[in-house]
Amino acid sequence: MNLQSKIDYSITLLRKSERMALELDPENGFYLAFSGGKDSQALYHIAKLAGVKFKAHMNLTSIDPPEVIRFVKRNYPDVELIKPKMSIYYMALKKHLLPTRTIRWCCAEFKETSGAGKVTLIGIRKQESTRRSKREEIEISSHKFSGNFDQWSEHKEQMVTCVKGKDKILVSPIINWTERDVWEFLNKVVKVPHCKLYDEGYKRIGCILCPMSNYRQKIRDMQRFPHVKRKWIQTIQKLIDAGYLNRNFTNAEFGFNWWISDKSFDQYYAEEVLQGKIDFSE
Ligand code: SF4
Repeated sequence: MNLQSKIDYSITLLRKSERMALELDPENGFYLAFSGGKDSQALYHIAKLAGVKFKAHMNLTSIDPPEVIRFVKRNYPDVELIKPKMSIYYMALKKHLLPTRTIRWCCAEFKETSGAGKVTLIGIRKQESTRRSKREEIEISSHKFSGNFDQWSEHKEQMVTCVKGKDKILVSPIINWTERDVWEFLNKVVKVPHCKLYDEGYKRIGCILCPMSNYRQKIRDMQRFPHVKRKWIQTIQKLIDAGYLNRNFTNAEFGFNWWISDKSFDQYYAEEVLQGKIDFSE
């Protein structure tokens, strides 16, 4: 499918879904989850082209790159910036746990709670990861439904009555777009600027030292934002002092280096021992 066909499909999906968005939130329509990254920009502009009613929101986490916040404020002043109730470091202390690839509590706490009881537009794409390749264009957050618009229509009446409290209907209009489609759409169709971090080698824009980033990106983050590394080391030290990290952490710096390594603790520790980096004489 070429880009124009994908644009047409996305617009049709948005227009078909708008009625249920207005049923759940007549004043604002869709709740558009914005991040300042290229995919959320594509989502925002396709929603504009479709002419549907939406309100865009960006949930901050306290480890957002300042360049992204500046870019959003300058280019998308209508996006509502939602400040976190507490910093991610404080949340880690409260939970007695660091966020990791497998226990990614930060997205759940800071990003996924918004939009409850509404129809939320998200900019995920199947091409991004194996996990996302299994996602569908319409889902209910509590796994009550996952499928395409036609399947949704068959069960819609029953489903909409299920959407209560913390549930939200997730619609992913660009789910079948490739990364190339996104860039072509932004550069040649809607012709909008993008955040400068992309021009400086960033492939993905998200939180600083996000556990989902690869190791190379984390190294880049540490060089560019050393204060975030410092804050995590302080947080790890507090967790060690309070007895919540009861592994063989020799110190907070060691714990931090394991945390960014993407390795299991046992594997990381064994490698450090083999390389003679752990001093057993103390
Ligand atoms: S650090 Fe990563 S996983 Fe955590 S909230 Fe930010 S984007 Fe989500």
